[in-house]
Amino acid sequence: LPNIFQDAMPVLKILEQAGYEAYFVGGSVRDVLLGRQIHDVDIATSAYPEEVKEQFAKTIDTGIKHGTVTVLYNGNSYEITTFRTESGYQDFRRPDHVTFVQNLDEDLKRRDFTINALAMNTDGQILDLFDGLSDLKKKVIRAVGDPEKRFHEDALRMMRAVRFMSQLKFDLEENTQKAIEDHHQLLKKISVERIRDEFVKMGLGSNAREAFQVFLDTKLSEDVPDFAGKSELLSVFPQLQFSPALETSLWSIIIILLKIQNDKIGTFMRDWKNSNAMTNEVEQIVSFFDVLSDHVPGDYELFEIGKKNLLNTIDVAHILGQPVDSEALVDRYLALPIKDTSELAVDGRFLIENGIRPGPKLGQLLEEIKQEVVAGNLENSEAAIGEFLESK
Ligand code: ATP
Ligand code: MG
Repeated sequence: LPNIFQDAMPVLKILEQAGYEAYFVGGSVRDVLLGRQIHDVDIATSAYPEEVKEQFAKTIDTGIKHGTVTVLYNGNSYEITTFRTESGYQDFRRPDHVTFVQNLDEDLKRRDFTINALAMNTDGQILDLFDGLSDLKKKVIRAVGDPEKRFHEDALRMMRAVRFMSQLKFDLEENTQKAIEDHHQLLKKISVERIRDEFVKMGLGSNAREAFQVFLDTKLSEDVPDFAGKSELLSVFPQLQFSPALETSLWSIIIILLKIQNDKIGTFMRDWKNSNAMTNEVEQIVSFFDVLSDHVPGDYELFEIGKKNLLNTIDVAHILGQPVDSEALVDRYLALPIKDTSELAVDGRFLIENGIRPGPKLGQLLEEIKQEVVAGNLENSEAAIGEFLESK
């Protein structure tokens, strides 16, 4: 067992010794069986949250109402959730009410896919109620129980299905896919934030292109912001040569494929509830992509885009099959006399000290100095810039 499980074992044993049941569940069990990297382990127990808290010195009330307590143990933290079922799904969204139950089977039944419904006990034995092990071997994502019913309970599961396809390189089991095709419209009930998180995980997964094809084929794409009626433009995505590795690259590629105009990028990003910082970066990458498609950028254009966005735009151009001489661009960027405004030898105060009155003129002059320095026409030193000011 990986260290992360071994470290967590005493936590399960403490619960068992207190007379409760405790198991590893969910993604970590799936990932250990697949030999994938594990980032955190989820623990399910028959103990109620208050009972869990009694057993450990340091705990955090993460989601008491949903049965989740975070336990801090030996420098690690573990989410421990009481066995529960979910009921009263309203509006095709995650239920507000959960009911704690005393047995693991009920808890596993509420889980989305067979490969996510495996549990492991303290002996390392796997409990497999729904043939999740065989689906792991077959590399298929299959809903637990009746897929139609499960997607009606929580329509986000349809996005989770294509996201796991991408991350795990799995196929969708036939009936699960059919249920998505038949009920993709249910996705409209789900909040954009939750759809976005799954969409991004899908777009950045190692099998993004295949999963994206299923996202289009099942028409899930018709029920997310700004994608309706755009399947033809989006159908380029599955034919790209690489998958994007960065979220900004993913959004930039989508925006370029959708031919969204520069002044509409903000709207698109807001529709998807992306942060201003993310929107900003994507706007820069997309507009620099336009520059690269139009002409070889000048030194000042390289200076303005900056190293990070330059490299990200080159990445986007490569993925989209747009030829760019990336080595030459990077070399030219690295040879710039200054790479950031903060590296300029002077600032506004220096100009004022040299007799320039505060005002818009001063800003223009500073900009001119910066351009001359970047172009290599003016040395980046107080002396040289002082002389330049005198000549004005
Ligand atoms: P990841 O590696 O992305 O964390 P994960 O399988 O652990 O994958 P989580 O979203 O962390 O996914 O959820 C943990 C577990 O909770 C899942 O494995 C699954 O058993 C269950 N689960 C999560 N979301 C749902 C849902 N919408 N419907 C049913 N079960 C769910
Ligand atoms: Mg998880």
